[in-house]
Amino acid sequence: MAKVVSVRLKVYGRVQGVGFRPFVYRLATALNLKGYVLNSSGSVEILLQGERENIEEFQKRLIKESPPLSVIDRVEREEIDAPTYSDFTITPSRKDEGFVFISPDIAVCEDCLREMRNPEDRRYRYPFINCTNCGPRYTIIEDMPYDRDKTTMKKFKMCRLCKAEYEDPLSRRFHAQPNSCFDCGPSLWIEGIKTQDIFKKIAELIKDGKILAIKGLGGFHIACDATNNEAVKTLRERKKRPHKPFALMMKDIEMVKKYCYVTPKEEKVLTSPQSPIVLLRIKDIQDISPEVAPHNKYLGVMLPYTPYHYLMFDFLDVPLVMTSANFSDSPVIKDNSDAKERLSDIVDFYVLHDRDIRHRVDDSVVFVEGGDLQFIRRARGYAPDPVKLPIKVKPSLALGPELKNTFTLAKGDIAIPSPHIGDLKNQETLDVFEDTIMEYIRLFRIEPDVLISDMHPAYMTTELAKKFKNYVEIKKVQHHKAHIYSLLLDIGYTDSVIGFAFDGTGYGEDGKIWGGEVFVGSIKGLKRALHFEYFPIAGGDSAVMNPRRIALSYLHTYFPDYTDRIKHKFSDFEFKLVKKMVEEGRVFHTSSLGRIFDLVSSLIDIRDSITYEAQAAIELEMAATESQHTKFYDFDIKDGIIEIKSIVEGILKDKESKEKSYIARKFHNTIVEIIKDVAEDLYRETGLKTVGFSGGVFQNRLLLSLAKRELEKMGFNVLIHRHVPTNDGGISLGQLVGAME
Ligand SMILES: [Zn+2]
Ligand SMILES: [Zn+2]
Ligand SMILES: [Zn+2]
Repeated sequence: MAKVVSVRLKVYGRVQGVGFRPFVYRLATALNLKGYVLNSSGSVEILLQGERENIEEFQKRLIKESPPLSVIDRVEREEIDAPTYSDFTITPSRKDEGFVFISPDIAVCEDCLREMRNPEDRRYRYPFINCTNCGPRYTIIEDMPYDRDKTTMKKFKMCRLCKAEYEDPLSRRFHAQPNSCFDCGPSLWIEGIKTQDIFKKIAELIKDGKILAIKGLGGFHIACDATNNEAVKTLRERKKRPHKPFALMMKDIEMVKKYCYVTPKEEKVLTSPQSPIVLLRIKDIQDISPEVAPHNKYLGVMLPYTPYHYLMFDFLDVPLVMTSANFSDSPVIKDNSDAKERLSDIVDFYVLHDRDIRHRVDDSVVFVEGGDLQFIRRARGYAPDPVKLPIKVKPSLALGPELKNTFTLAKGDIAIPSPHIGDLKNQETLDVFEDTIMEYIRLFRIEPDVLISDMHPAYMTTELAKKFKNYVEIKKVQHHKAHIYSLLLDIGYTDSVIGFAFDGTGYGEDGKIWGGEVFVGSIKGLKRALHFEYFPIAGGDSAVMNPRRIALSYLHTYFPDYTDRIKHKFSDFEFKLVKKMVEEGRVFHTSSLGRIFDLVSSLIDIRDSITYEAQAAIELEMAATESQHTKFYDFDIKDGIIEIKSIVEGILKDKESKEKSYIARKFHNTIVEIIKDVAEDLYRETGLKTVGFSGGVFQNRLLLSLAKRELEKMGFNVLIHRHVPTNDGGISLGQLVGAME
């Protein structure tokens, strides 16, 4: 008889809550191995006892055949002396040191949908059907290791049938923590309406033009019929959100293709288990209200991702507006009582359920450009997945930026970016930010030794860092350097690059406001090589909200003869005030390219004041896509400064005779030419043939695709983001260089 050996494997990665133990059980039994498998808080531990050959086979197949949602980071192996086991069992979880990855929430799977559609099945039309391959995860987890009594499902006691599935290693619901059915699980109702057929009733209300609050996986949505112009208009008025595009949920991929162009890659992302909102080019808006996405050429579309979204669409043939239930970038509402209290002026009805949301998480927003997935907002379906770093860092917490905040907790070569948190100037968001940090530290068991913040003296995160200065080391990383570091860590690049950080604004090392920066260097350090010229802007936030003020500040400084020509954009008072501020030097100086986009948008009468972030730049991009030519404006680059005066001069001249879209396109082409020139010059100086793009300006798809294509034609290797947003949502990852070992 062959010799029996005992081997202990520790599997690290996303291996809990993804059907890993039943998979191990089935594999071990098939190979006639004895022993056990258990979840510990740091890993999945497997003891295998049997013939060496079978153990080798097990290890090979463990990697090759692991469940679809699992991600194996590494496997540690040790031969040990162990008592003799007579069978293979799944034993209770053990709590110990170390952290384990937590699975994000996953859209309902095909198998569950099939059961939900089967009149013979006991879960026929059950709104919370799930299995080990799908359903809520991060949003319901209260503690690790991931077991039912550590989730918000603990208050639902499983019935006999559910319990049997839960305990059967061969069932696809073995240890599926949210497992439930009509008899024992959560339920869904329309507040104040008694009906046998909830989903038919929801559809009736929607068709009747009503606005509904619907509790989702990570928070509430506000929903209405996207083809009902009156309903969408009413929603805009009630939500006090005049222009910012609303996301849509569509019944199925056929419906998406009716309204939008969908590439194969976009279809793959739409139908993926992460099920994000994908920005798609509008084919023909047809019956969708123009109020859904005014002045935009893209629609943000997602497919149903909970079982009850599907059940709703059984009675609906129209796209739904599905916008996050929050107020001007404050956190999305997640609790029933909160929703009823705070949404009463906005919605007509509430669709509620009694499975509590422990962690709020918004819908993710992505786009696909040239086959690459780009994040605008990384949240549901992706967070809290880790990003593997090309470096080792001390246990650390990077606090991120002020707007579009995310933070990142990290240790060794693992970084765990938080989901999108929002605008920290909002007190409520700040509270959620602090709470979520505490949750992360507890769940992932990383006690930070280093805290990294932005350099801005007035940021809330800078204040927060100060509070901890007696306990931990505090580091600061400049905002735009953090953008480039973020890109390099995101894609695991350790060599030197030419890094373009084209962005909104951030506090610079010289006390001025940066935002159009070119760096040379690597994760070990960046040198500012070039930047856009500093130009004066009167007023801080008020100028950002009113690009006409940026235009007036610029013209009054450099083209005073022209100022009267834009007088009509202002009240007398505002006109005089801005001019006076410029004359008295009550201005801030910035090299921000984002603000230059605002300037141009106002100069050519596209957008003088905005109601959501980057609106002026977005509408300038939309105008530019309507024109196809390759002309560009003259520009000067002298002593490391990219001057814009000649560009503005050219625009003012073109304005006399040319269309807005022509000028908008010419301006975009000019930025591409600048990037080409700068890259070529720096290549001659440094020999570097790799270029990286980061910063909010690269959310501009026209600019991103043109610049990437042109540089690649010139033989450059172009790096763009992959796992975190190019906007400020990616900053916290980049700040981690401050904790490098
Ligand atoms: Zn499933
Ligand atoms: Zn049950
Ligand atoms: Zn930024």
